[in-house]
Amino acid sequence: MRRAAIDYRMQRRAVLADVRSGLRSPADVCDAHPDLLRAAIHIGTPTTDDCPMCHDETLTQVTYVFERKGSTRSPGGRAVPREALARQLERFGELTAYAVEVCRRCHWHHLVESYQLVARDEDVNAG
Ligand SMILES: [Zn+2]
Repeated sequence: MRRAAIDYRMQRRAVLADVRSGLRSPADVCDAHPDLLRAAIHIGTPTTDDCPMCHDETLTQVTYVFERKGSTRSPGGRAVPREALARQLERFGELTAYAVEVCRRCHWHHLVESYQLVARDEDVNAG
């Protein structure tokens, strides 16, 4: 179950507007970390959206998950294939997920959305 989604499209538009007006250089916003690029290549989910920077490649989405706050098992987030989300959720009960779009050609990257995933709603008695 998915809740508390935050959409980052407005911030994305603002970044692209800054680049168009020269406030930020393309190099500034096309600096995806090598780990992110690797994740995009190996476990990313292809989209049909064109890259807003190079217009020469479709974007790939990478999903990062963080376990519920307070967990000491793994403090950092990690990239997981979208197909593995359900399994991760079963294991941890609650996750915060971040979807990041990446261009594998020019290395543009931006946060698309974040959301909470809960294995079951607290209102529901799971028995
Ligand atoms: Zn690109």
